[in-house]
Amino acid sequence: MSSVRKPDWLKSRPPSGREFADIRETLRERNLHTVCEEANCPNLGECWSGRSSSSAGADGDDRSTGDGGGTATFMLMGDRCSRGCNFCDVETGGMEPLDPDEPENVAEAVAEIGLDYVVLTSVDRDDLPDQGAGHFAETIREIKARHPGILVEVLIPDFQGEERLVRKIIDADPDVIAHNVETVSRLQHPVRDRRAGYEQSLSVLECVERESDTYTKTSIMLGHGEYDHEVYQTLADCRERGVDIVTLGQYLRPSRSHLEVKRYDHPDKYETWRRVAEEELGFLYCASGPMVRSSYKAGELFVDAVLR
Ligand code: SF4
Ligand code: SF4
Repeated sequence: MSSVRKPDWLKSRPPSGREFADIRETLRERNLHTVCEEANCPNLGECWSGRSSSSAGADGDDRSTGDGGGTATFMLMGDRCSRGCNFCDVETGGMEPLDPDEPENVAEAVAEIGLDYVVLTSVDRDDLPDQGAGHFAETIREIKARHPGILVEVLIPDFQGEERLVRKIIDADPDVIAHNVETVSRLQHPVRDRRAGYEQSLSVLECVERESDTYTKTSIMLGHGEYDHEVYQTLADCRERGVDIVTLGQYLRPSRSHLEVKRYDHPDKYETWRRVAEEELGFLYCASGPMVRSSYKAGELFVDAVLR
């Protein structure tokens, strides 16, 4: 199928301004990476315009309306991934040793930027004995120790389904644990790396739900050629495993070497999915819109929907 034309509603604001420059400088000084930049996220201009929350680290990344901003997603363990998902702009291979100072540097950057809600994610590190779970957990602990009361959301890899590694994250006591199923069951491959999979991702979410009181979250990209009944089934499968929060957003092709976009859905369609997820399936909230990513306004939405 040939590529479809990008519709007008997918316009994004280019990054600019003092806050954008300040955050970028803080990150450079400490040799930190964000998904926002590595994945060329279209929300960068909007998210970095405020300072109420921030995210850094793992896989792919919202509600489409409302004011606010100040979210950045820290990407831990480098800017190169051991996997190669066909939708993702992060470089594959050439893995480097972990930076032992990264947990402390992230915690200091959180203070400098002035965040009260942090999002951490990471590349996948299949090359490491614990796949980076210990380093991820240490970063959570470092942030929590220095900033009592801060809320930490983590978007974690699947750790190849190893529950002992998922438990390392649970034990560090983050407030939200997210793991993305990314797409419907039928399209997992070719969309995701061959080491990832639908059932494996659901099992990670189920493990978190079973073994902790932490809120769980997942994200689904639309535009890979999925049918409505498959999206519904994916939402239902996640809810059945106890997932609390879901986000839906439009897949955007990072370059011509990535998967083509098969379809652009109108914002009205996203609103329909939000209603289905929240009112029919019982998610605590569903952030749904063409530009929504997992960490889009994560702090504002979590506080509004869950803590108020
Ligand atoms: Fe960064 Fe997430 Fe905002 Fe994108 S949606 S700019 S990844 S915080
Ligand atoms: Fe990107 Fe896939 Fe690596 Fe996540 S696991 S950073 S989506 S290549």
